[in-house]
Amino acid sequence: MRYASLGSGSKGNATLVEHAGRSLLIDCGFSRKGILERMTAASADWSILDAVLVTHEHTDHSRGALAVCEWLDRPLYSSFGTARKMGWLDHELWRPLHGDQLLELETLRVRPVTVPHDAHEPLQFVVASHTEERRLGVLSDLGSITPHILDAYRECHALQLEANHDPVMLRQGPYPPALQARVAGNYGHLSNGQCAQLLEALLWSGLQQVTAGHISEKNNSPELVRRELSRVLGCDADSVQLLGQDGISGWFEFR
Ligand SMILES: [Zn+2]
Ligand SMILES: [Zn+2]
Repeated sequence: MRYASLGSGSKGNATLVEHAGRSLLIDCGFSRKGILERMTAASADWSILDAVLVTHEHTDHSRGALAVCEWLDRPLYSSFGTARKMGWLDHELWRPLHGDQLLELETLRVRPVTVPHDAHEPLQFVVASHTEERRLGVLSDLGSITPHILDAYRECHALQLEANHDPVMLRQGPYPPALQARVAGNYGHLSNGQCAQLLEALLWSGLQQVTAGHISEKNNSPELVRRELSRVLGCDADSVQLLGQDGISGWFEFR
C-alpha cells in the first residue's frame, strides 16, 4: 500500500492512496487542471482511480472534486452535510458516507470517522486493505482529539496527521482575534503540541510511516513541527516527514 500527498495546507489538499492496482483520492482542493498536473507529477495513473472522497466543504478540500469526478466519470463520496452545503445532493455521481459505516471499494476499505471541526458534517478517513492487513490513517482539520478518534486510528501502519499551528506564533501572528480563536478552538485545527500528543497516543510497534501536514504558512514553521514530532518519534528532527502546499510529496510506501 502506498500514498502520496498532492498538496497539503490551507490553499489546497489532496491525498492519493494506492493498493493492489487501484486507487482513491481523498479531497480535491485544487482545480481539475491543478489536480491532474499534480497526479501526472506523481506518475499516478488516473485510470485506476475508483473514487473521490471529500472530508468537508471547506474550499481547500472540495474545490475541484466534482469537476474531476465528472471529467473521469467517477463517484464522489461525502457526508450528507457536506453534500448539502456543496449542492451535490441531487448529482448523479454523489454517494453518501456515514460515520463508521465502511465503504468497500475494489481493493480498499474506508472507515469514515467523525471529527470536531467547524464544518457541517466533517469526516476523516482510515483506509485499509480489504483484509485489514494494512491501514493508513489520514487525519486533518480537527480542533481537538476525541476518544472516538483515538479508537478509530489505533494500529495504523501509516499516519498522515495535522500539525497546523504553533500557539505562540498564532497569538503573535497576522490573524484577527476572532480567526485566532476559531483556529485554536475545539472545532478548529490541531496545534503542534496536540499533534504530538495524538501521535504519542497512537504509537505502536506496527507504525512504519508518519507524515505531518496542513501546516500553516503564517502561524507555524517546519522547524517547530519537526522539533515537536521528533521528540515523540525518538528520531532526528530532519527525518520527520512534512507535507507542503506547493509540491507533491514522494510516495510513502508501507508493507
Ligand atoms: Zn483544511
Ligand atoms: Zn476545514
